[in-house]
Amino acid sequence: MVVEERMGQAASVESPDCLLCGSSSARTLFIARDRLLGRPGEFPVVRCTSCGLVFLRPRPSPSALGSFYPDTYYPLDQQPSREAFAVAEGLLARITEWRRGQRLETPSILDIGCGTGLFLHLAHEAGLRVRGIELSESAVAYARANYGLDVHHGTLENADLPEESFDIITMWHVLEHLPSPVEALRRVARLLRPGGLLLLGVPNIGSIEARIFGRRWFSLDAPRHLSHFTPRTLAAALIAAGLIPRRIIHSPGTAGLVYSVMGDLTGVMLKARGRPLSDSTYHRAANVLHCIARPLCAGAARIGQGGALEAYAIKPKVR
Ligand SMILES: [Zn+2]
Repeated sequence: MVVEERMGQAASVESPDCLLCGSSSARTLFIARDRLLGRPGEFPVVRCTSCGLVFLRPRPSPSALGSFYPDTYYPLDQQPSREAFAVAEGLLARITEWRRGQRLETPSILDIGCGTGLFLHLAHEAGLRVRGIELSESAVAYARANYGLDVHHGTLENADLPEESFDIITMWHVLEHLPSPVEALRRVARLLRPGGLLLLGVPNIGSIEARIFGRRWFSLDAPRHLSHFTPRTLAAALIAAGLIPRRIIHSPGTAGLVYSVMGDLTGVMLKARGRPLSDSTYHRAANVLHCIARPLCAGAARIGQGGALEAYAIKPKVR
């Protein structure tokens, strides 16, 4: 079967060299599928034999990737969920902690992949000057209309932003979506003022949960996640972009475990009963699983096996 057919109808594909070190040599780990949306296609996940980066190859070309992001990717017509609030408040708490050691009156922050803008809204209320970048047109419209935010609709590459103008840049679970992650981090480094902070989060392909679930790991999110990092490859990517990784810490990434199990459960029930779980049963089961998974994932993070990673990187003051 030709690659184009395996990736779904009429999807144009590309076969990049390693996104971190440029090596052409990589070993296939497994073939992933779109478990989130159930779109057709098979997506080989490979590991670079030179630097260890895990990435999709071949993968849909940038023009074909848009069809894997439906407009319903963000819930737009309701109040932000409790989960969304927890994520945004957690991110703001990290920024507040970092600010304590700085002498910044009203720091400027850029959130790349800001979605519907809840985090930037909270950051603005906390006294920061805020800007955002977001690819989803409907999410941008929501962020502007509901929060009055200054959001660029488009990509990091085509955003017209002044260099060395931001004290803080956040990329919360965005890097793994980008076709050229090191190039994107270089652009981030140019936008940060010397001494400025990049705070980013990514799934951790080196975690226990990633190894247990393999191609069924929820956070693989093929084909939307194009690359996958471990603490080592994440540090290497930051250094390659001219940033100094100060801390890379493990975070629980509880949702990754919960929805990996829910994916398996849905598959089992579908086979056994011929129909999926009802919405209410699905949500009840997911809530129960969250309660069980929370302490497990917190424990995994404490022993350096968290389902997600957070990196704090600084732009050097003297280049
Ligand atoms: Zn490599």
